[in-house]
Amino acid sequence: MESQLVVLGGGPGGYAAAFLAADMGMQVTLVEAEPRLGGTCLLKGCIPSKALLHVARVVAEAREVNEWGVKYGAPSIDVATLRARKDKVIQNLSGGLKQLAKKRKVTVVQARATFENSQTLKLEGGDPATYSADRLTFEHCILASGSIPAMPSAFKLPTDRVMDSTGALELADVPESLLVIGGGYIGLEMATVYAELGTKVTVVELTPTLLPLADRDLVKPLQDRLNKLFAGIYLETKVTGLSDLGNAIEVGFEDAKGRRSEKFSRVLVSVGRRPNSTGLGLENTEVELDEKGFVITDDRQQTADPHISAIGDVAGEPMLAHKASHQGKVAVEALLDEPAAFHPAAIPAIVFTDPEIAWAGLTEEQAKAENIAIEVIKYPWAASGRAVALGRTEGFTKLLIDPDSERILGVGIVGVNAGDILTEGVLAIEMGATARDLGETIHPHPTLSETLGFAAEAFLGSATEIYRPRPVREA
Ligand code: FAD
Repeated sequence: MESQLVVLGGGPGGYAAAFLAADMGMQVTLVEAEPRLGGTCLLKGCIPSKALLHVARVVAEAREVNEWGVKYGAPSIDVATLRARKDKVIQNLSGGLKQLAKKRKVTVVQARATFENSQTLKLEGGDPATYSADRLTFEHCILASGSIPAMPSAFKLPTDRVMDSTGALELADVPESLLVIGGGYIGLEMATVYAELGTKVTVVELTPTLLPLADRDLVKPLQDRLNKLFAGIYLETKVTGLSDLGNAIEVGFEDAKGRRSEKFSRVLVSVGRRPNSTGLGLENTEVELDEKGFVITDDRQQTADPHISAIGDVAGEPMLAHKASHQGKVAVEALLDEPAAFHPAAIPAIVFTDPEIAWAGLTEEQAKAENIAIEVIKYPWAASGRAVALGRTEGFTKLLIDPDSERILGVGIVGVNAGDILTEGVLAIEMGATARDLGETIHPHPTLSETLGFAAEAFLGSATEIYRPRPVREA
């Protein structure tokens, strides 16, 4: 078998690259080990977690409206139906990808692939009916093999009571108690799902803060709410070991006060992900890896091997689906000799908890660390009519602005649906927009997106809904 372009991995990086290449007239083969396309994001990441988080949100809202005159009883959870709905969402989207591949005449091979050399993949397993030979040669390959959950050997126990994110998303049951090891976004999203379904959830984190990559002020409103939702949040606490008691997992903790242990029905280990770059035969190519195992590429996604590009989680942080697909498009355009390069001014990050946290571009922590002069303006959602109507005024929208040029360098939002309203800020950063551009854009009322315009108005000296006297800046 041979192909002009082979894309290895059918996740959001791989299928975006394969589809664009086919649209541009290339002959494309997409190799994926799993029976369905979609990768981590669709099969065991972004989409199933958001399907479950939506249910969590409905449960929370039903509880909240009790105080506003609409009474619902305690929820009764039918786990099998919940699971089936989540699987239907995945099936629907994955089926769509299969159809799109077919329409574009992308050959989909279901097999595990390993590099024999820089222009040959060996195919094994999967569905042999999808390939006519066990060697696939190519002019160029885009490697999009993604990442896998990190599971420290000390936490590896031969029981399904200890889960990684994939196990947690399977939703085998609603356990009585759950310990989430790791206060990053995946851990907190899964913790939110289980807590709203009725599990007593505890989160343990080694560092002094949840979500260490986000600005502290953005995390505070979330942490205040999680303090009420979760049974416990243990910060600066080390997990010293796990032992399987048969009907529970005993977990040892160590913090400034000393050592103790507690029992949990289940444990979710969510301590990060690592690039899927081992066992692929990359040693038979000229591809180079960094000390963390990420494939090294240039800004056109080209590796040290002239026949191989790399994109997505396997090619470096941040490990996010939209970064993977963007890099997929850059890699294809670079192959077509177009002037493409991966130089985003902002890669948005969203934590889909309740409230959500969303940020893009420069953060305050980063500005401090890199000594970048900024002016920070925060618009409290207590002054947003929409937030008051929703009963969710704990949020705020902040802009990080260059004091000289008045350009927007960073945006941070905490509040319900923060993720959906972030994009305007991403566009502002990418387009080099100034606070005046944002402030003078007519925002629809009453929306949460207005808070971006209001924050810019506040920076310029006068925002209608808040009184904060300060010099009005000249146009
Ligand atoms: P992947 O999606 O990991 O796809 C790689 C594919 O390559 C896999 O399908 C794999 O089977 C295949 N493969 C690997 N090796 C081989 C081989 N040898 N032969 C054949 N096939 C192979 N990101 C977001 O942006 N937003 C979110 O809300 C979000 N939520 C997440 C929630 C969870 C629980 C998790 C785990 C991740 C989440 N992510 C989220 C991260 C996101 O899933 C990844 O960043 C994204 O999937 C990376 O895309 P990719 O194409 O690089 O790789």
